[in-house]
Amino acid sequence: MTQRIRPLVIGNWKMHLTASEAAAYVRSLLPRLGSPIDREVALAPPFTALAAVAALLKGSDIQLAAQDLFWEDEGPYTGEISGVMLQDAGVTYVLVGHSERRWHMEETDRVAGLKTRAALRSGLKPVLCVGEDEAERASGRAEKVVRAQVALGLQGTPPGEASRLQIAYEPVWAVGTGKAAGAAQAAEMHAVIRRELHAMFKNAATGVRILYGGSVTSHNIDELIGAPGVDGVLVGGASLKAEEFARIAAFPPRLER
Ligand code: PEP
Repeated sequence: MTQRIRPLVIGNWKMHLTASEAAAYVRSLLPRLGSPIDREVALAPPFTALAAVAALLKGSDIQLAAQDLFWEDEGPYTGEISGVMLQDAGVTYVLVGHSERRWHMEETDRVAGLKTRAALRSGLKPVLCVGEDEAERASGRAEKVVRAQVALGLQGTPPGEASRLQIAYEPVWAVGTGKAAGAAQAAEMHAVIRRELHAMFKNAATGVRILYGGSVTSHNIDELIGAPGVDGVLVGGASLKAEEFARIAAFPPRLER
């Protein structure tokens, strides 16, 4: 029997909630969450709400996450936010290569790789988001696409840094669609990702958490978190209501796998 990695639940608010709405949300969420010790919980507000959320999370066990970062540490990059700035703002986790950024901002695997390395350089813990789209799954290319996203997104990461990495498997067809992957589908792709991580990092790969994301709700969390190889969840739409996110974060404890 091996010890299960401490599961991680991240709420990704996307482009929702102003700073004052975020503060009201956190005030409502904290008493609902309590102080879970067998799981980690993080909130990823938009940049403009980071300071308000950081102030309210101080002294709690809940971590602050950001939704993106730029790949340089500082310089003439108007509109961008660096890992150094996020670190200074109290951020622990940062999403990299989310499918909405890959789609709307045309971010590539090369950009995801630059951002992963920038996050590590700044002392942050990157959450590299990968996942196939509907056409790639339908044509049998899902595994190949996801393995390439992992390999390119983590290219150049020394094995010594692997314990700070997390991967979020987020099939594009499941993000924001209400059509979550089944437990077996998630388990299958998590195993593919785990094998790719082992090929890259050998034993150091065991510390990398692989989260599932895509239409997670309080109705399907128990099934998804119970799937083999699922070390946590990245929750978008359903994280926008404090009651629902607290219900998701309250999944039954599972210490072994
Ligand atoms: C996400 O934003 O990462 C996500 C998985 O969104 P949703 O839960 O709304 O599908």
